[in-house]
Amino acid sequence: MNHLPNSTAARDIATLIHPYTNLDRHMTAGPLVMTRGEGVYVFDDSGKRYLEGMAGLWSVSLGFGEQRLVDAATRQMQALPYSQLFGHRSHEPAIELAEKLLAMAPAGLDKVLFANSGSEANDQAAKLVWYYHNAIGKPRKKKIIARTRGYHGVTVYSGSLTGLPANHADFDLPVGGVLRADCPSHYLFGQPGEGEAAFVDRIVGNLEQLILREDPETIGAFIAEPVQGSGGVIVPPKGYFEKVQALLRRYDILFIADEVICGFGRTGQMFGCETFDIRPDIVTVAKQLSSSYIPISATLVSRPIFEGMLEESRKQGVFAHGFTYSGHPVAAAVALETLKIYEERDTIGHVQRVMPHFQSRLHALAEHPLVGEARGIGLIGAIEIVQDKRTRKSFAAADGIPAMAAAATLRHGVIARAIRDAIAFCPPLIISEAEIDELFDGVRHGLDEAL
Ligand code: PLP
Repeated sequence: MNHLPNSTAARDIATLIHPYTNLDRHMTAGPLVMTRGEGVYVFDDSGKRYLEGMAGLWSVSLGFGEQRLVDAATRQMQALPYSQLFGHRSHEPAIELAEKLLAMAPAGLDKVLFANSGSEANDQAAKLVWYYHNAIGKPRKKKIIARTRGYHGVTVYSGSLTGLPANHADFDLPVGGVLRADCPSHYLFGQPGEGEAAFVDRIVGNLEQLILREDPETIGAFIAEPVQGSGGVIVPPKGYFEKVQALLRRYDILFIADEVICGFGRTGQMFGCETFDIRPDIVTVAKQLSSSYIPISATLVSRPIFEGMLEESRKQGVFAHGFTYSGHPVAAAVALETLKIYEERDTIGHVQRVMPHFQSRLHALAEHPLVGEARGIGLIGAIEIVQDKRTRKSFAAADGIPAMAAAATLRHGVIARAIRDAIAFCPPLIISEAEIDELFDGVRHGLDEAL
């Protein structure tokens, strides 16, 4: 495609490196330029409207055009646009946000360390696991177990925790100290004839073997998303987290819950930890913390971990970690307003009311000839695209069928995301039942065109 000189497309191609994009194809295909949003919809520069079926990147929970968030940012920019938390400096928005977060968070979490992205929150979580184990005189307890298809970010360490080959290839990742456990998808990784309970026992057994092989005294933590998002929306089977947690407790291994996607209502409860009865030692949040109107993330830790940090910082003289923008006042003010809106408008109550309709429209797609499995919980879901429903054989990567179906869905005015052999859906939490119908009608048209 030839783009007119000085057009937006030509200027984009001349200047931008697009994250998570086929760079070569982009040189000819060019960008889809978005200009504004309203509710669950976004509009491109030709005025075409799309239903944002992915809420941006699993994140714009309150939809577009939420004036209260704009006002919160404006007020804070006028009052105090920047101040740091380094060296005893503080400000109200960070304190109030921490109070509110801890009041909402799963039980047992005691302190908050802010950052700017999900990747940073997970990097921090790993550093705190190491710092803590040094503090309590267990300096060998440093390895972290992460899972195949887990997604924890792209920085050097969070990218290493991520269990997707594309994030490692040619970036020289993973760095050392990361162990890999099984992905808990029975559909994708169950053996022929193996029931779900037997599958859980097998992969939890594998986890125990891994722990014993490596020596439990060298393993500090296990990190998991309650529902794996970028790995293809993998909802864990019944009993999985209960058995994993029993094992971790036996070997004195901490649980880091990566709530970057699940946090703040996505699974129908405030946190995925509540939905799956996870008792975490550390929780990381981002995305829906501010409805993605501004970058902010946080790492929440239990009291014992904080006490260890306190002890270690006494020894070192300073807790030598932090970003220029940790607890940025404008970001904190926007996040605080987001959490207030969740409470005042009972956003979780709304999710609980509309999620049965979302799940029923999602699961109805399982009848489509291209769909092997429809899976989901709350307001998140995916369909697995297969060539053969019986054998569950996927298409060759070169066929690009999931990407073709997602592109066709986009032509029908609905944004969905192709992830490997799956197509994912994760709309703003404010979506109505009529909009859910529009989302899945668009997806069905897209699938029919890709047939
Ligand atoms: N953790 C999870 C579960 C995520 O889905 C993501 C991003 O999609 C991250 C961490 C990384 O967040 P960020 O892209 O803000 O660094």
